[in-house]
Amino acid sequence: MSALAHKDEDRIPCKWCGTPTQMLGTKMCDGCWELETRIQSQPDLARRILDDLESESQVTELMTEVSQEWLDELAKVKQQRDDNRAKINRLNGELVRQRRSALEQYDRLIERFDRLREAVKALGDQYK
Ligand SMILES: [Zn+2]
Repeated sequence: MSALAHKDEDRIPCKWCGTPTQMLGTKMCDGCWELETRIQSQPDLARRILDDLESESQVTELMTEVSQEWLDELAKVKQQRDDNRAKINRLNGELVRQRRSALEQYDRLIERFDRLREAVKALGDQYK
């Protein structure tokens, strides 16, 4: 138990990733030591893999960008649709009002016509 506590005190941060390590000589954690060793043994391959991963992430970035453009475009189309709906609703309301007003005018005309007919009839009766 005291040996473990002693080990904890001897730890230093890994020079690559900062993970506490007991490897005072290499100053690397096991993972970083393994990675560095593999890279050093095949640096060209390591570079090709890194380049490939980087271009892959660039493609992902591009796709994200394109998706964002599509989302923006979609949002615009939706906004346009909502605007059009609101316009249609307004026009419908206006149409209903105009039709009601036309019907009222029509009713008034019929009333006047009826009164006129009554008047003509009364006049006719007078000259019988
Ligand atoms: Zn490390």
